[in-house]
This record gives sequence, C-alpha cells and structure tokens, in this order.
Amino acid sequence: MTVDYDDRYSYGKPQNSFHKTVNIPDVVVFPRSQDEVSKIVKSCNKHKVPIIPFAGATSLEGHTLSPNGGVCIDMSQMKNIKSLNLDDMDVVVEPGIGWMELNEYLEPYGLFFPLDPGPGATIGGMCATRCSGSLAVRYGTMRDNVINLKVVLANGDIIKTGSRARKSAAGYDLTRLMIGSEGTLGVITEVTLRLQKIPQHSVVAMCNFPTIKDAADVAIATMLSGIQVSRVELMDEVQVRAINLANTKNLPEVPTMMFEFIGTEAYAREQTLIVQKIASEHNGSDFVFAEDPEAKKELWKLRKEALWACFAMVPNSEAMITDVCVPLSRLAELISRSKQELGSSSLVCTVVAHAGDGNFHTFILFDPNQEEQRKEAERLNHFMVHTALAMEGTCTGEHGVGTGKMKYLEEELGIENLRTMERIKDALDPNNIMNPGKLIPPHVCL
Ligand SMILES: Cc1cc2nc3c(=O)[nH]c(=O)nc-3n(C[C@H](O)[C@H](O)[C@H](O)COP(=O)(O)OP(=O)(O)OC[C@H]3O[C@@H](n4cnc5c(N)ncnc54)[C@H](O)[C@@H]3O)c2cc1C
Repeated sequence: MTVDYDDRYSYGKPQNSFHKTVNIPDVVVFPRSQDEVSKIVKSCNKHKVPIIPFAGATSLEGHTLSPNGGVCIDMSQMKNIKSLNLDDMDVVVEPGIGWMELNEYLEPYGLFFPLDPGPGATIGGMCATRCSGSLAVRYGTMRDNVINLKVVLANGDIIKTGSRARKSAAGYDLTRLMIGSEGTLGVITEVTLRLQKIPQHSVVAMCNFPTIKDAADVAIATMLSGIQVSRVELMDEVQVRAINLANTKNLPEVPTMMFEFIGTEAYAREQTLIVQKIASEHNGSDFVFAEDPEAKKELWKLRKEALWACFAMVPNSEAMITDVCVPLSRLAELISRSKQELGSSSLVCTVVAHAGDGNFHTFILFDPNQEEQRKEAERLNHFMVHTALAMEGTCTGEHGVGTGKMKYLEEELGIENLRTMERIKDALDPNNIMNPGKLIPPHVCL
C-alpha cells in the first residue's frame, strides 16, 4: 500500500479524461488475492470509507476519480490466467490482466478475445464499463462475452454470478447486473470469458468519400446487406489529417471508411467485392485492400491511436470525447448534423465512429487553461448528446457514465428507472462505499 502524496495524486487525477480532480484517495492498496480484496472491502464497510476500484485507467468519463477520498484498490497485481478450457473455448482470468496481454497468451492456441477498447485496458475495467470497440459489430459487447464473474460485495461477501455453461435460465442475471456497474456494486475478482477462433483469413479495406454522409450511408447499406463484417469504422477528414501528421503518412484527407472481412479466403474476398460495389454506388473512390498481416496491423493501430494523433496535431490540448449511439438508420443524419455544428466552431474537432453499430465519437480539442474553450467544448458535447437522445439514442454507447454522463441519464432513462437503480444500489451497498459519486445522479433518492 502507499500513502505517498505523489502516488496518491497520480491515482486521483484523470489519466485519459478531461474531468477535473477535486480530491485524491487517502491510500492506495494493491491486493494480490480475492481474500485480500474481501478483507479490505469489509474493513472499509465497517468504517464507512469509500472504495475506488482502479484498473488500466483508460476510462474516459472520470470513472476512477476519488471525489470523496477513500481507498483506491489497484487491481494490477491480480492478473493470473486461472484456466484455459480449449474444448469449451473459454478462459478464467483475474481482472487485472489486459486484453492485449490476454490475446498474446491466446494466439498460439488459435484463439482470441474480441473486445478492443483503449490500449492498456484490463478485463476487470472492461467488465465494469461494459466496453466494446471496433469488433463489437461482429462479436457483441462485453455484455455478450462474459460467462460469469466472481464479485466481492460491499459487506465483503464473495458471490459467483453463474456457472460456466454457455447459457442458463437460473434466476436473476447478476452477471449482467455487474457488467457496466462501474465499481458501484462490487469489486470483480474473477472473470470467465467466451473466446473466439482467430479467423482463417481477413481482408482490411479502405475507401474515400466526398462527404461524411456518403460514408455513413455506406455503413448503413453494408449492415442492411446482411454481410457479416467484423469492423466498420469511419473517420472524417480532420481525423485523417491528424493521423497523417502524427505518423508521417499521406492518406487522402477526406472522409474515410475502414472495413474488415473475415472467414475463408474466398468468402472474405467475396464480401470485400460486394462492399466495394456498395461503396461505389455512394460516391466511394480509391477502394484499396490489404491482406498482409503487418499491413493490416499497422492500419488498425493508426485507427486505435487516433486520440493520441489528435494531441500531436494540437499540442497541449485536452480532448472532450463524445460517445453517442443511435439506431443505425439515424446515424447518417446524426453525423451530418453534428459535423455542421462542429465545423462552425472555433475548436478543432475530429470524428471517428464504430459506424456499423451506430456509435459515434468526436474528439473536441480544447486548451484546458482557457475557460471559454472548455465551455465551447461542453456546448458541442451537449449538442450531440441531445441530438442523439432526440433520435431514441443514448448518451454513451460504450464509454460509460462515470461522473461525466450522470447529468444526461434522467432524460435518457426517466426518473423511475433511476430510482430502481438507486434501490438496487442501496440493497447491495447501504453505506454507499462503492465508488460513490459515480453513475447514479446525486439528486436521485429512494
Ligand atoms: C485511446 C483510447 C481508445 C478507447 N477506445 C475504446 C473503444 O473503442 N471502446 C470502448 O468501449 N472504450 C474505449 N476506450 C475507453 C476505455 O478503454 C474503456 O472504458 C475500458 O473498458 C476501461 O478499462 P480500464 O481497465 O482502463 O478501467 P479503469 O479506467 O481503470 O476503470 C474503469 C471503471 O471500472 C471500475 N473498475 C475497474 N476494475 C474493477 C474491478 N475489478 N471491479 C469493479 N470495478 C472495477 C473502476 O472503478 C472504474 O469505474 C478507449 C480509451 C482510450 C484511452
């Protein structure tokens, strides 16, 4: 454990989000086992001390902040792989293992875990945020890929949320209750994950468009065609410029789509040609594709590191990141309206989207020392959230609520829904020690 000020400060400040630090944890602890977690939690409950579970710190909405001080539980020492069940295509892990490390371990077995959020994210944090990523369009989100969990509850009890069977109708689905609970209901100490076969073959294709609407229309048409794409990613011209600058590339600076097709060689190529035709019907041009493994890895790395490319383009800036998601049919309209608003702002804004899911992000770059710029970033963020909500969408498709999105939940879900969440929270954590100040808006009472 540490009580060193600098250590506590570094745990208390947001690593990847624009939210402000108002307090820091009083102590940081590093449990090595489930029993140690249980003892820590029991003691905190007895003394009514807040707990903040802490994993890869890649979350984007102030999830790991410590507004009330308390005990920050760093899960990084719990990263063992407990069993790999090849015949069942599942793996049992401790929560501190990263998705990238896990995939390195699984590769020799021809298997992988298909969720790819921020580099550095861990399985525990990914469960807690119900994350997804570029492959969710094919494999689903964290909700669909976790078989069961072990969780330490606020009173120190350890529960297992289900068996290792692929499906079960045995009672309330406590696995799904914990997935996305952001550390507010318990500390996850073990996770059983469903695995996938590494596809025999894959093709990565890129295509340029004159307008972002054309690109979004192609995403929709591709999904409606019934083709089982594994990735459908969209970037606007500003994001491509940032990638060029950060990586000394010279990609055409226009709205760009990236696709991945998987299966047998023949099947992946056939799908590529069908989507090439769809793209050309929507003004797509320069359709290129890669099959070389290194070239494909490099293309996805450029996309995955898009946020950091923005910081290279606008040094000393911070990014306010929107994460709205709408029914697929509304995506093109949402992106077009948002682009209009972003284009008339004084701030530099880039657009990236997991377009096949209707999930769309903007990186709004602002100088954190200029209050006017922060306000303008907030205005744009509000605009996009409200536009998405008006289209029966959500304020967060994958990043979660943290402290940043609490203010939108009532509009999206209604007060009765939030009261129900509060009743669940109160039943499991009556002393409100588990990551207090996150997820449920403070005005919601029983
Ligand atoms: C460059 C970049 C790209 C990203 N791309 C995506 C993307 O494509 N898709 C996506 O969904 N997200 C993305 N993210 C966001 C982020 O990676 C995810 O939210 C991720 O799931 C967070 O995992 P973490 O291990 O970093 O968790 P942390 O940030 O450490 O914690 C997140 C939350 O989980 C809680 N928590 C952590 N461990 C536990 C535990 N064991 N038990 C209970 N609660 C716990 C914490 O208290 C906190 O509330 C991106 C982030 C970055 C920086």
